[in-house]
Amino acid sequence: MAQILDGKKISAEVYADIRRRCSELAKNNIKPGLATVLVGDDPASQVYVGQKIKKCQENGIESIHCPLPATISQEGVIQKVKELNENPKVNGMIVQLPLPKTIDPEPVINSIDPKKDADGLHPLNQGLLGRLKNWKEITQSGIPLSCTPYGVVQMLLHEKIQIQGKHAVIVGRSTLVGKPLAQLLLSLDATVTIAHSKTTDLIGMCRTADILVAALGQPEFIKGDWVKPGAVVIDVGISRTKEGLKGDVDFKAVSQVASWITPVPGGVGIMTVAMLLRNTVSLTEYH
Ligand code: NDP
Repeated sequence: MAQILDGKKISAEVYADIRRRCSELAKNNIKPGLATVLVGDDPASQVYVGQKIKKCQENGIESIHCPLPATISQEGVIQKVKELNENPKVNGMIVQLPLPKTIDPEPVINSIDPKKDADGLHPLNQGLLGRLKNWKEITQSGIPLSCTPYGVVQMLLHEKIQIQGKHAVIVGRSTLVGKPLAQLLLSLDATVTIAHSKTTDLIGMCRTADILVAALGQPEFIKGDWVKPGAVVIDVGISRTKEGLKGDVDFKAVSQVASWITPVPGGVGIMTVAMLLRNTVSLTEYH
């Protein structure tokens, strides 16, 4: 039976570190500020942003919430981002995704000051990630890392799970999760394969994974017999179904064969919020 990679437990340590660093900053009258830009009234996005605001309040970070109507123009959102770029109280910001279909996310993300890119999604930060040689260089560079991949790596490192030399298979190639996670695992000396919807023999590919990451957004897609016995299984997926929140992994079956597994909820999602706050504190300290 697999051991649980417990997002609540591991994030508690991240938050303790955040509070300690915020107390240090407070000695110089500095309080990190995180702006959250929420466009429209998508219920799931409201829940996610609400969690981020609550965690800021609990951990010594100023939350600057900016709700915008779904009818706003693309230029209107960019204008708001530019205002936040100029606001000295804002050390980090996040534009909650997905944006309404009328707004192209790329120019919006591109308009965020890379020094305030708490979500680590600006092309400059993602590009730098590809240029840095290893994990040590990445962590010393001060660039913000995409929060979900950063959270996944934090979980593996926390439990001292071996990454070096292991074959990591990531199912999903998004800019948000799959691609930046591949960079991080590569920097930690894994051999990385990224699979996607056009991959032939996905099941066979999954069976070769020592570390299997499911980030495709299809509830309970990864079955027990797709997993090599003893593999580490990370479930990034979050789907809202009639039976509640579901990950991309058939937890019941996979936990019989894996050595470690993340639950949904209670796994990667909790870590994502914690890493957003950590990025905000790091950006405050660095710039
Ligand atoms: P995207 O829709 O942007 O990307 C999904 C990826 O999965 C694509 O690369 C797609 O392939 C691939 N894919 C989809 N279906 C299949 C399939 N049947 N077989 C193989 N590959 C497939 O999603 P995101 O990366 O944004 O999110 C993925 C999941 O993670 C979602 O459930 C999302 O809610 C969740 N998520 C969770 C977070 C957390 O904090 N826990 C944070 C961010 C996301 P192709 O490119 O070929 O289309």
